Formats: sequence, structure tokens, C-alpha cells
Amino acid sequence: MGLKTRKIKVRDLTIGGGAPIAVQSMCATHTRDVEATLRQIASLEEKGADLIRIAVDNKKDVEGLAEIRKNTKARLAVDLQENFPLAELVAPHVDKIRYNPGHLHHLEKDRPIEDKVKWLVSIAKNYGIALRVGVNCGSVAPEFLEKYHGDHVKAIVESAAWHCDWLDKLHFENYLVSLKDSDPEKVVTCNQAFSGRRPDVPIHLGVTEAGLLPDGVIKTRLAFEKLIPFGIGDTLRVSLTLTNEDKWQEIYWGRQILKDIHAGKFISVPDFGKGLNIISCPSCSRVENGDFVRLAMEVKQMTAYAKDHKLTIAVMGCRVNGPGETDDADLGVWCGPSQVTLKQKSQVIGSFKYSEVLPVLKNRLDEIISSPANV
Ligand code: SF4
Repeated sequence: MGLKTRKIKVRDLTIGGGAPIAVQSMCATHTRDVEATLRQIASLEEKGADLIRIAVDNKKDVEGLAEIRKNTKARLAVDLQENFPLAELVAPHVDKIRYNPGHLHHLEKDRPIEDKVKWLVSIAKNYGIALRVGVNCGSVAPEFLEKYHGDHVKAIVESAAWHCDWLDKLHFENYLVSLKDSDPEKVVTCNQAFSGRRPDVPIHLGVTEAGLLPDGVIKTRLAFEKLIPFGIGDTLRVSLTLTNEDKWQEIYWGRQILKDIHAGKFISVPDFGKGLNIISCPSCSRVENGDFVRLAMEVKQMTAYAKDHKLTIAVMGCRVNGPGETDDADLGVWCGPSQVTLKQKSQVIGSFKYSEVLPVLKNRLDEIISSPANV
């Protein structure tokens, strides 16, 4: 836990300043499906979730959230992603709002970012809730990527630090930050750099799109083990690709990793990360087709024969983050309602039915493996 960070409040939960590290998760059910979301919240609470995040994209989701709020005492956070104007509607129902600095430019393009953040702060102040500045590798604010010439780590750290400076100027202190990447090493570098720069600001730790078990837990541990023992990290999430029935495992693994770190138990996986890397998102309310998790599992199974090749394949659940988060992968797929878009790096190869995409992916993978650079 960050001893030097200041304490913030998410309703009655203290984060930072030496408080026990809070463990959180996110619902992967559709927010408008109130019953299913309440069931998932209950299963996460049962495993000891301190805070549960929900995605809200439209007014139907806001209506669902209001109903959810009436029926649970769980601490709730909302993820705004691109639709920051919804903050005003969700604030009465939640304890914390996460905004992504890299998504603020999508709407009200002519309005300065400073003004948008000022407006978010006024809402947080009105409702007495916390904010998270959630910077993510696949959606870094373009002005920072440009300024640091595509140096992702620098752009992530500087974007987070800029927002902290602005929030300070607005006299708002009830905030924390997250700096997430799918590469555990980059998570370590970003968080160490940020913590050195702003030791006072509480940090939410996570390896984004860590993927399926068991690799998702291993990647997350590799990052957390290099940060938490050094006092970096005040709350965490283990982001895993799981079916809705198994979502509780995010809390289970979060608690288990903390327990092991506190007991001085660390993992040793010398060959990990040297071969094929499958990254996949943990899914959320934005998932456009329930077949996403099955597809991620099938991709893992189908590509096992290429396990010794140092390549990355990304599998993402929606069109909000999918296109950006697959750009750096050697091969990437992101899932729409009935079609899956296949990409090679940032180039779109085409869109295919769920039942037809695997053979096309395999052909591309074979081509890459047999290309002179990989033989
Ligand atoms: S990629 Fe889309 S579905 Fe997956 S977690 Fe991110 S927003 Fe949710």
C-alpha cells in the first residue's frame, strides 16, 4: 500500500495513505439487464469486492444503473469511456466515476479538455464522489502521443500527471489515477515513473487485457510483485477474460495475489513472455456478442501450435476499445454484434462471421510464422 499517498474516500472506503489495498472488479453483464448485473454484483461482493465498476454508455444504461443502485449496498463506480456527458446522470447513483483522458476528445470536439475536466470535477464535488483518471495504453490522448513522438510510456505518464496538475488547480483532491498497459513490464515502468513524479496521488493498479487463465494471473502477478512490495499501489483489479459465471475469480485472484505478496511468496516463471502472447479484454457491459469469451478461448486453443513464436494476438470484445487496443498486436480481432473484424497490426484484413474467422486468422498466422523474419 502506498504509505506516502494521500487518503481518498469512496463513500466509506478509504483508499491510499496506508489503508489496506482495496480489491475491485467490473461487471461484464449488460447494465440494462438489472437482474443479471445484480446477481454478478452479489457474487463479487461474496468474494470480498471493495468496489464494483459498471459501464454506462447511454440513457438505458443510466436507467438500469438507477435500478441497480436501489437494490444493492455495494460501492459502485462507473466507467464513462467516450460518453463523458453522462457523468451528470450517473453521479447520483455511484461513489466514483472513472474518466479516460484519451476519450475526452471524441465528443464536443471544440470544447477544451480543461473545461470538460472542470465540469466533471464540479459534478464530483456536488455529489461528494471520487474520480479516477484512468489512462490506458490503447487510448492514450492523441496530443500526448504526438508530443512524445509515440513514446507510449512517456505519453501515459505525462497524460496522467497533466490531469493531476489540473485537478489540483481546481482544488479537487478526492481522485486517484491508473496507468494500465497489457504488457506487465510497461505497467511497472509507468507506475514507477508516475509514483516518482507524484508520490502523493493514490494509484489503482492493473494489467489491462491480461487475458485468460492462467496467463492473465501470471502477467498481473509479475507486475504487482514489482510494485506493491515497494509501496506502489493503493487499489487493484485483476482483469481476466472469464464467463459471467466465473467473474468472481477476479476478486479471488486479487486477494490471493495480495496474500502471497504479503507472505513474501513470489512466482518464478523464467520462460514466461518469450513466446506467443494472447491478450484479451476482461469484457464489460459493452460486449456486443456473448460469444466473445468463447472466441477468446478458441483463439488460444487454435494458436497453441505457435506457442514458441514471439507474437502477440489480441482479442477484444467491442468496437469502443477494440479498434485502438488491437493496433499494436501482430494479429488482432475485435467483436461486433454479428461480425468479427480481423486486423494485422493497424491494417484491417476484413470482417467475418464468428464461425468463419478462425481459419482466416490461422492462415494469417501461418503466413507470419513462415515469413523470412520469423523463420
Ligand atoms: S474492449 Fe470493450 S468489451 Fe472489452 S473491456 Fe474494453 S470496453 Fe469492455
